[in-house]
Amino acid sequence: MQYSSTNRQANHTSFREALLKGQAPDRGLYFPEGLPSFPEGCWQKWKGASYAEIAAEVLGLFLEDEVAPDVLRAICEDAYNFPVPIEHVEEKQYILRLDQGPTASFKDFAARAMARLMSRFIKEEQRKLLILTATSGDTGSAIAHAFYGVEGIEVVVLFPRDEVSNRQRKQMTTLGGNITAIAIDGKFDDCQAFVKQAFADDSLSHLPLSSANSINIGRLLPQMVYYIYTYCQLAQDGEECVISVPCGNFGNVMGGIIAKWMGLPVKRFVIAVNENDEVPRFLQDGEYHKIEPSRNCISNAMNVGHPSNLARLVHLYGGFMDEKGAIHEEPDLQKLRDDLFAVSVTDAETRETIKEAYQSHKLLLEPHGAVGWAGLKSFWQAHPETRSMLTFSVETAHPAKFPEEIRTLLQFEPEIPAALEGLDEKEEFLQELDATYEAFHAFLKRF
Ligand SMILES: *Cc1c(COP(=O)(O)O)cnc(C)c1O
Repeated sequence: MQYSSTNRQANHTSFREALLKGQAPDRGLYFPEGLPSFPEGCWQKWKGASYAEIAAEVLGLFLEDEVAPDVLRAICEDAYNFPVPIEHVEEKQYILRLDQGPTASFKDFAARAMARLMSRFIKEEQRKLLILTATSGDTGSAIAHAFYGVEGIEVVVLFPRDEVSNRQRKQMTTLGGNITAIAIDGKFDDCQAFVKQAFADDSLSHLPLSSANSINIGRLLPQMVYYIYTYCQLAQDGEECVISVPCGNFGNVMGGIIAKWMGLPVKRFVIAVNENDEVPRFLQDGEYHKIEPSRNCISNAMNVGHPSNLARLVHLYGGFMDEKGAIHEEPDLQKLRDDLFAVSVTDAETRETIKEAYQSHKLLLEPHGAVGWAGLKSFWQAHPETRSMLTFSVETAHPAKFPEEIRTLLQFEPEIPAALEGLDEKEEFLQELDATYEAFHAFLKRF
């Protein structure tokens, strides 16, 4: 299978090259050329299968000519060694909890598969990699944990010193080894700008730089699997379902949308965003305006004013959007509206939802998952006939990552999962840098 760029200029390439490069040379995003279909009878066949088995079969559809099935199976067994709870709410409504991995966010699912695949490919070619990642919190820790101790790969994580929580910082700074965490005396936007500039900097072209952000196709494909797994666990006789996903850069939901295009029986995706409502407006008016600077909401991992994966969504629906957000060819808006219900949720609604879900169902949500659940309620209001359908909403982080918010709203603190335990006592290894590209450049020159 070949991968082409959403900017339509770069050469087609293999999965291996797309994964190791991260971004295409024309600054577009890699996307599979033609999607495979699911094997006949798979919904029934995968009903009793483990998460790792389904992951290996699904990824195999994309990697079949590049990674042997037994190797892929071993990689998935090793990556997915934690539970994937599906919590019943009422009737045919469920919460999919993607928060049991080593950093308690859904980003573990993609990061762990990606680290193992990258490691395998570079070993075969005796290459080395230096992965640069800018983070507002969750991406950095998931990448750091997934790549910790992987031979031949160094990871540099940049985070804004004063904008991440204590727990988030400690998840990145207490590893050491091949993980370097850098606290920037600036904002997330600075961190992201420095990483972008380093990729474009000719004086660093001797470094084997790569990216693990959700522009990388390696992040996207593993994010199809939990939708398929959950559907197989819950569905009877190929029934249609509704899935609600809290969205920031739209990498998570793109995995689901790809699965739908390949035949997963999803009637509608609810794409729920916080007050950064550029995508709901786009689907409504057909005109796209990014939000700069992005709005600060309590679901902070979704404070995105121009989602990087929108170019892929537009591409899949027949259009062409460049990396700056300019639309050169219109996508099929009617089909987008048929497949997706886009809704923006305010912070006030998010907080109300956390309270209401706990009071009515003893359902404990954190701010991101609450945006998803609130979005689902808006969908039910607009389409009451869908309320009896099989439905699940995705919870993307563990509530214990947001103890202050939960305590204020519910008057108790969530129990701390094993992944977050003992952080307070661990030693931190971190560098501090001024918020200038010169400082970051000088740091990278030392590699
Ligand atoms: C990253 C993140 C999101 C947003 O996911 P995208 O793939 O960027 O849409 C939502 N919730 C949490 C907790 C996250 O860390």
